[in-house]
Amino acid sequence: MADMEKKIIYLDHAATTYVKPEVFEVMKPYFDTEYGNPSSIYSIGRSNRKAVEDARISVAKSIGAAEPSEIYFTGSGTESDNWAIKGAALALKKKGKHIITSNIEHPAVLATCEFLQKQGYDITYVKVDEEGLINPEDVDKEIRPDTILVTIMMANNEIGTIQPIKEIAQVCKKHGVLFHTDAVQAAGNIPINVKDLGVDLLSVSGHKFYGPKGVGMLYIRKGVRIESLIHGGHQERNRRAGTENVPGIVGFAKALELANINMEAHYKKLSSLRDRALKGITDRIPYTRVNGSMEKRLPGNLNISFRFVEGESVLLMLDMKGIKASSGSACTSGSLDPSHVLLSIGLPHEIAHGSLRLSFGEINTEEEVDYLIDALDEIINKLRNMSPLYEDFTKGV
Ligand SMILES: *Cc1c(COP(=O)(O)O)cnc(C)c1O
Repeated sequence: MADMEKKIIYLDHAATTYVKPEVFEVMKPYFDTEYGNPSSIYSIGRSNRKAVEDARISVAKSIGAAEPSEIYFTGSGTESDNWAIKGAALALKKKGKHIITSNIEHPAVLATCEFLQKQGYDITYVKVDEEGLINPEDVDKEIRPDTILVTIMMANNEIGTIQPIKEIAQVCKKHGVLFHTDAVQAAGNIPINVKDLGVDLLSVSGHKFYGPKGVGMLYIRKGVRIESLIHGGHQERNRRAGTENVPGIVGFAKALELANINMEAHYKKLSSLRDRALKGITDRIPYTRVNGSMEKRLPGNLNISFRFVEGESVLLMLDMKGIKASSGSACTSGSLDPSHVLLSIGLPHEIAHGSLRLSFGEINTEEEVDYLIDALDEIINKLRNMSPLYEDFTKGV
């Protein structure tokens, strides 16, 4: 095990992933030899245009879209979420100003809704149960004549829970309300078929499934009108201006294609590593709890709370042993507030504070998982032995 001390054990794939070599390979030409602007008419421009359009066809196929023209490339998952929500809000403001979302969304959705609230929109937050799941009937109950959009994530970035998107889409359809889902965590981990799901708008981001950072996609079902947010040239069928990130788009499409081909093996491998970690940790370390449903969950996600410890201390001590994990969302780290997701599923503040998110990926091994279990056992013991709360607890005070 001594040689593993120097190695990095990356268990934060929900924050971002490395770019697969096959993906990097197809991106390369568009940085040097094939550097033309897709809007130019000479040959290296045209070859870039073709690369973008081929990527669009490939992505449409990967997510089961009816037509490639329903695929819009963006600069991130965050941009896709902003576009879907603000774009719908602006396009439909004459019909109404009511939007429904959930209380466990990613900040890209929550902060966008807060912004719209300041602009006079009315936001309803549907609550999840203690398993971290949304009941479609609760969405149904909240829909009003002035409801213009429902936005609920497909899979959660902190606890990995998978929502009943198809059922929620049916509820929205029944009422004639647009439905957007943030599928950034879901893509590459579980199958996505927009036609089968019945969604109107769906966001995805390249760097969560072994593709490049800084490229996202918004699926806009044919016939759905949303306002554009970025104005300028004629790119993306006049709906999202700005010279295309050609290498990024090419890499995005390749990564999504590979994810679809490998999905079964990926699911098997990640869930087996995750279950090995879960068993090892709960067998060896008392006073722990797993957060979120184990059945409706992404394969690589494990979110555990350890009583009597601070999550931040656990993270720092894991880092010293080469293990890279997270206390929840990368976007909220640095703040001292406990995770809004963990509070939503009913965890008290002090337990939410002692939580750890492990997100496994394709490079991880069983050996790494066993090293993690040993490391965690040692760290949690050390921290608890320094904790006055734990001392009181063991003395039965
Ligand atoms: C990572 C993430 C985003 C943001 O995507 P970026 O491409 O990093 O902007 C949005 N939603 C969820 C659920 C995410 O996990």
